[in-house]
Amino acid sequence: MAAITVTPALPAPATPAGAPEPAGVPGLALPLPVLHTTVLGWYEENARDLPWRTPDASPWAVMVSEFMLQQTPVKRVLPVWEAWMERWPTPAALAAEAPGEAVRMWGRLGYPRRALRLHGAAVAITEDHDGEVPDDHATLLSLPGVGEYTAAAVASFAFRQRHVVLDTNVRRVFARAVSGVEYPAQATTAAERRTATALLPEAAGTAATWAVAVMELGALVCTARGPQCGDCPLFTVCAWQRAGRPPYEGPARRGQSYEGTDRQVRGKLLAVLREAHGEVPQARLDAVWPDAVQRARALDGLVADGLVEPVEQGVYRLPR
Ligand code: SF4
Repeated sequence: MAAITVTPALPAPATPAGAPEPAGVPGLALPLPVLHTTVLGWYEENARDLPWRTPDASPWAVMVSEFMLQQTPVKRVLPVWEAWMERWPTPAALAAEAPGEAVRMWGRLGYPRRALRLHGAAVAITEDHDGEVPDDHATLLSLPGVGEYTAAAVASFAFRQRHVVLDTNVRRVFARAVSGVEYPAQATTAAERRTATALLPEAAGTAATWAVAVMELGALVCTARGPQCGDCPLFTVCAWQRAGRPPYEGPARRGQSYEGTDRQVRGKLLAVLREAHGEVPQARLDAVWPDAVQRARALDGLVADGLVEPVEQGVYRLPR
């Protein structure tokens, strides 16, 4: 599938006879019901077969996937999710173990504070909600580590409710197809939320599928670099395409540099502790990175984040 690099502005598509004009969604070049049918039809044909999307996936399975997928691609999440669900098929199973075990099982997914937060959510679900993942948005939001996105995603994907689910993929699709810009703002804006709300189908079940369908379109076709516009169901109506694909003019976008950063050092230190299955002397940690100042800063950060526990002077372990 070759990405299209030069595309002239396209004529507006004709509104089907009798179809209502789009209301309240500036930039949308086709009626809402047609947009829904188009994207939902594409999803039906192209959705990936992922284990947390199967009809028998539990709300817990969905919640675990959402924590893992927030900053990590599906390919890397899959094996860790499978191992995690096999070991901890319920929140109670995870809550019965030390938080350090969650950090160990998180492996190399990155941003390991998510493991601690997921463990904290499992404890709260076990202690305060009879071990069942809550099905309402407000209660989900009250769980440790569950923010607006995760609460909406779990309520939508696990319980088929109607919520605006705005992740980076969805935001990018809406920015291009509706707002006509290549990338959304760095942080979610009120205008984006209004647009996403206006685009949401009325029926709860359809809205839930719509949420995952747009997300999938962003992950597979409308990718950050090199969107596959020729394969996109929105090709003829996409505002960015119709405007001639104007280049991004916003503030510099954050890079993903990793080499030499404190994040890399933290990853190396944590890898030693994960593999140790016990207490680790300072000397073994000192061996992973030559810069003592940066190493100490990274270790202090891990301790402050609760990912590493000092046992005594110069001895560390994963949290118990
Ligand atoms: S046409 Fe291209 S830019 Fe527009 S939504 Fe589709 S993939 Fe994204």
